[in-house]
Amino acid sequence: MTDTSNSQTNVRSEDSHIVRPWQDVTALGQDEATVLEGSSGIYVKDADGNNLIDGPGGMWCVNVGHGRREIIDAVVKQMEELSYFSPWTMSAPITTKLAERLAGIAPGDLNNVFFTTGGSTAVDSALRFVFFYNNCLGRPEKKQIISRVNGYHGSTYLSSSVSGKKSEKAHMDMAKGLCHFISSPKPKDRPKGMSADDFCDKLIAELEAKILEVGADKIGAFIAEPVMGSGGVVISPEGYFKRCHEICKKYDILFIADEVVTSFGRLGYYFASEDVFGVVPDMITTAKGLTSGYLPMGALFISDRLMADINSTTNEYRAFTSGFTYSGHPASAACAMANLDIFENDKLLEHVRDIAPYFAEAMKTLSDLPVVTDVRVIGLMAGVECELDADDPDEERDCAFAMKVDEACQDLGLLVRPIYNSCVMSPPLTITKPQIDKMVSILRAGITKAAAGE
Ligand code: PLP
Repeated sequence: MTDTSNSQTNVRSEDSHIVRPWQDVTALGQDEATVLEGSSGIYVKDADGNNLIDGPGGMWCVNVGHGRREIIDAVVKQMEELSYFSPWTMSAPITTKLAERLAGIAPGDLNNVFFTTGGSTAVDSALRFVFFYNNCLGRPEKKQIISRVNGYHGSTYLSSSVSGKKSEKAHMDMAKGLCHFISSPKPKDRPKGMSADDFCDKLIAELEAKILEVGADKIGAFIAEPVMGSGGVVISPEGYFKRCHEICKKYDILFIADEVVTSFGRLGYYFASEDVFGVVPDMITTAKGLTSGYLPMGALFISDRLMADINSTTNEYRAFTSGFTYSGHPASAACAMANLDIFENDKLLEHVRDIAPYFAEAMKTLSDLPVVTDVRVIGLMAGVECELDADDPDEERDCAFAMKVDEACQDLGLLVRPIYNSCVMSPPLTITKPQIDKMVSILRAGITKAAAGE
């Protein structure tokens, strides 16, 4: 039973039967959530009938915007034709076509697509593939993973174990001895007086030192997001991602680019690894923008080289014994195909590349607010960091402030994603210049209102 009550400006729901992600289970049914009842374009509509700009684009995922008729029709048509097939023993034309299309747009030799149910299962599958690969190659010791502090890779046992957000591990168990963490490449953490180049050298030296400390023969893979999303939009120093890749190659360590957020247009390209950062990884994980969040689906891309390596070791049966009931689900595949059609028909990648400088300039105007201490922008993702007193840092206080900004913005017509002390924006890629202006002006008003304690 849902009891919907109106507060001053927002509609809240009390629900005692849903355990939400990251829910405080001691407060089941007592916490509040905005009730959404509709959506169109860059807007969602709450139960009071208020239109709110979808600043976070759902959860970094509604890339083509809400309510696209093309996707709805394609999914309905597919469901009418074939509602399900077992991916173990059967295939369906729509899923075959999607895999072929994805292989065509993926970088380099990443021609092998393993469908999953979302981002966590894509990362989980990538890690399991690392184990499988090294078992096949006769080096069962080479299984440990290097990841970064504040990286986020998902919520399964393996993907959470390689995630570096401390706050999410407090009461949870992680795979022991699996993962080694190196520093986040957050430019704001650069020591005073150190140049950006020297900071990058330092981070790369740390990666190499970690490999030497653990032993390259023990490290199976390095996993990294090209831009840390859930870490608060952390944009690494120039050349960092490419140099990490070079170090991995030097020590025969697989490079997994977690592009669950950055793929499918967020940075103006289908994949950011090669087009933005000049790297062709060994594996890429994707989800979210693959279906623009209309239906659940993820995809792990595996290079031809890895397949060939396994092939060359033996002629024996080598099954990757991993998979999901919904791997390559036909409705999700139809959704992804229609989503990609929209990218092509609307020239969405070109649009993002055209509008990204305007978005960056508009977001950076917020720097003049006294509580804003950093504005990070790349493509159509941004993090506006707030500190109530920069001389007296207090993480808890500033995280609470970011939540207040979200509340204030919701009252004014904008959804914000507070991450740590940053207000994060990743709007639908269809956003226009006037809509960016509106979004930024509401965010300015929301920050100002929250700072005034209103
Ligand atoms: N990897 C990254 C980089 C993510 O940002 C996320 C989710 O935000 C995931 C993996 C997990 O994806 P999902 O929530 O679809 O399981």
